[in-house]
Amino acid sequence: MAVSRGSTDVPVAELTSAQAERELETLARAIAGHDKAYYEKDAPVIGDAEYDGLRRRNQAIEARFPALVRPDSPAQRIGAPPAAGFAKVAHARPMLSLGNAMDEADIREFFDGVRRFLKELQKDPALPIETVAEPKIDGLSISLRYEDGRFVLGATRGDGRTGEDVTANLRTVADIPDTIPGDAPRTLEVRGEIYMTRDDFARLNARQEDAGEKTFANPRNAAAGSLRQKDAAVTQARPLRFFAYAWGEVGGPVADTQWGFLGRLKDWGFPVDPLARLCAGVDDVLAHYGDVDRRRHGLPYDIDGMVYKINRLDWQERLGSVSRRPRWAIAHKFAAERARTVLKRIAVQVGRTGALTPVAELEPVTVGGVVVSRATLHNEDEIARKDIREGDTVIVQRAGDVIPQIVEVVADGRPPESRPFLFPDTCPECGSRALREEGGVVRRCTGGLVCPAQATERLKHFVSRDAFDLEGLGGRHIEAFRKDGLVTTPADIFRLEEKGGAIAGREGWGERSAANLFAAIAAKRTIALERFIYALGIRQVGRATARLLAKQYASLMAWRAAMDAARDADSEAYGDLVNIDGIGPLVAGEIIAFFSEPHNRAVLDDLAGQLTVENFAAPAAASPISGKTVVLTGTLDSMTRGEAKARAEALGAKVAGSVSKKTDYVVVGADAGSKAKKAAEIGVTMLSEAEWLELIG
Ligand SMILES: [Zn+2]
Repeated sequence: MAVSRGSTDVPVAELTSAQAERELETLARAIAGHDKAYYEKDAPVIGDAEYDGLRRRNQAIEARFPALVRPDSPAQRIGAPPAAGFAKVAHARPMLSLGNAMDEADIREFFDGVRRFLKELQKDPALPIETVAEPKIDGLSISLRYEDGRFVLGATRGDGRTGEDVTANLRTVADIPDTIPGDAPRTLEVRGEIYMTRDDFARLNARQEDAGEKTFANPRNAAAGSLRQKDAAVTQARPLRFFAYAWGEVGGPVADTQWGFLGRLKDWGFPVDPLARLCAGVDDVLAHYGDVDRRRHGLPYDIDGMVYKINRLDWQERLGSVSRRPRWAIAHKFAAERARTVLKRIAVQVGRTGALTPVAELEPVTVGGVVVSRATLHNEDEIARKDIREGDTVIVQRAGDVIPQIVEVVADGRPPESRPFLFPDTCPECGSRALREEGGVVRRCTGGLVCPAQATERLKHFVSRDAFDLEGLGGRHIEAFRKDGLVTTPADIFRLEEKGGAIAGREGWGERSAANLFAAIAAKRTIALERFIYALGIRQVGRATARLLAKQYASLMAWRAAMDAARDADSEAYGDLVNIDGIGPLVAGEIIAFFSEPHNRAVLDDLAGQLTVENFAAPAAASPISGKTVVLTGTLDSMTRGEAKARAEALGAKVAGSVSKKTDYVVVGADAGSKAKKAAEIGVTMLSEAEWLELIG
């Protein structure tokens, strides 16, 4: 399994929420990979410090973006038992994760977004958005497959695309029917949550303690540990329960509405949470949230929020999803849990681009069932603003029920000898000056490649899974090779074979493992443009942005030439760059700054001598607009601008914000203004709404 560092170079304090979301996904995958290597294969591929670094980064991002905490967050898996060797199951339809909201404003924005997206709702503000509100069970998502009425396969969520086959264990769960009635579709995947009640959890822990076995931190961990047992008999002895709430692959229609679907689930013999409600709209939904929040501590099972789903399935279909998150559903978390503890020390870490990040080391304390020993402090301004000092008694909070952060200092808990925390102005790793960026809150080491924190991290990023994906060249190897001067720049990796003798003779290496490594490296001498761009580790350029750039410029040469030309902000090249949907002036500035740096250009030249960078291959032209650049202008009658853009992109088109010679089509709606005029001037093909609809089918 490929394991990677999984983080980008952007300091947490500067991440946009889109970047944070992507990175949390990557981190969850990377940490899960390391856990697997460590627990199952008993073969860790990275050192403890690096592993902790990943977890801390994950934690810091979650603390800054509580709304983005994932259901498979590594923080949630603290104390979970190791995975047993289950077979992999590819989900026929991915198990999506939901967007998270922490407050009423987020929820109102969600409903506003739905109304803006669907034309009939936009036209008629009085038209209600019927919504099903269901408690969000704090358990384990699973998928149950029925064929011809029989339960044939049960799988954990895993990463959403691939889970683990736990069929034998799920067969022991009484809430899960073995057979379902004949009116259900012949192929039916039912999705829901495996959980354990609080009483059963307490009894299980008491039994475990009596037997001298390990106890579980909370019902969720107990449910996870019980489900993922190699011996189904053990699972059978554990009191697991199930609630159904969604479907995956189906052989026929399940219902017209979510509420109707829940009714059918009950008819088929599946338990459905009795607190699910059909609500008339946002106010009704919020009232139900408040009601359940007040009652939740008295419920027999843990819930950590509510999930809202647009009731009409045809609307769900049209709303679709963005970044693998449905636009038609959202999770609304309950407020955070807090605890008081002592802040022992403030540690300052250095990230891959040299950003200095403060972390609070705490006297371990249990917050909402999880032991917390570290918390994020965001940045030096935050420390100064809250006057947080070493030795202080502080209130720690896990927002979204998972994340530790420091809310405040307890006024009377400060030791008399305490002094304000002095944030270092030199890098703790290399001693170089650490400067504040103009207008920014982050202090960054100026050591560049001499700073061990940055050079090593830069190389690790380069070989990581989404970049060059060099499995055989793990973080520890990079560190060791760098220390001995074998690899200092990315291109050195491709010169390792020339130093073959120096590798084969090293501790832990032999002729054969060295040969394997060289073969793996040789296989990566040809690389896709988007991976290459991502591997460079340019700030703000994550996987999605790298792909956008590859799609736009198609070849490395064209991209380099365009980025050189784009240094002139009045140039057409600059205009093209910021006109890419998804790339703004901030990102453009980072890319141009990267190319302005002579040292980076040298690295690129050096790499170009070692590699063949493949041109971007557009997906097969399955639609008449795939690969075309489309500009939308004016008001369309049949769909909103948002829906039209989503449709065009789904069909492989690029949607640009303004008309240029590179535009293929301008779709002209009612009251179109300057863009239509410009299109006419340049002679770009203009389409009426009817022509547009005909073109996209
Ligand atoms: Zn440094």
